[in-house]
Amino acid sequence: MSRRPVRTVAIDGPAGAGKSTLAGALAEHLGLERLDTGAMYRSVAWAALERGVDVTDTEAVAALARGLRIELTDEHVLVDGVDVTAGIRTGAVDGAVSVVAANPDVRAELVSRQRAWVVGHGGGVVEGRDIGTVVLPDADVKIYLTAVPHERARRRASERGRHQLAEVAAALERRDHLDSSRQVSPLPDAAQAAADAIVVDSTDKPARQVLEEVLAWL
Ligand code: C5P
Repeated sequence: MSRRPVRTVAIDGPAGAGKSTLAGALAEHLGLERLDTGAMYRSVAWAALERGVDVTDTEAVAALARGLRIELTDEHVLVDGVDVTAGIRTGAVDGAVSVVAANPDVRAELVSRQRAWVVGHGGGVVEGRDIGTVVLPDADVKIYLTAVPHERARRRASERGRHQLAEVAAALERRDHLDSSRQVSPLPDAAQAAADAIVVDSTDKPARQVLEEVLAWL
């Protein structure tokens, strides 16, 4: 039996679930490029903070987003030519990004860029919060990746070299709450994930095992 080749993969789930690690491994395995849509929302939040635009001023932030040149490669993120790879992963951006991402006009702009990216690349592995439900509802494969909150906080704290686990856990919980309670494209929980999504819990699993679990479904 020969199956249709996988060209589009959607990976959704909360922060620290392991989406980026899985996206990288799957992209390599399938010979596809990957798109981290969280980096795009972070880029808009970074630019707003950098330029002194009030993140709650929806019109100003939407105008900012529309005019921003965001370039993503496997290694770097550039905003209007400035390398923000590290700058978009700060606590300040963590704190502002969910407000920016709740802005419907920012989402409309970024979702249309994400779809254009997929068309331009002939597919891809796309990770975010609303990929299987909104950005690519016809993706060949949809994965909802999750892990228990403590594990997600632990991973995020070690990624960032921050040692205050309780502080990271509180910030993550706040962001999850904002992302899942917003009006537009809220992050679903595992039970509400796209009906055709494969739900994978990465708690206590090495990255290799998560990849193998997913590959078994393809
Ligand atoms: O994936 P990451 O944690 O870097 O995403 C940062 C933020 O961007 C999320 O907390 C969420 O507010 C927003 N986001 C989103 N939709 C996506 C990707 C990210 O709302 N598709």
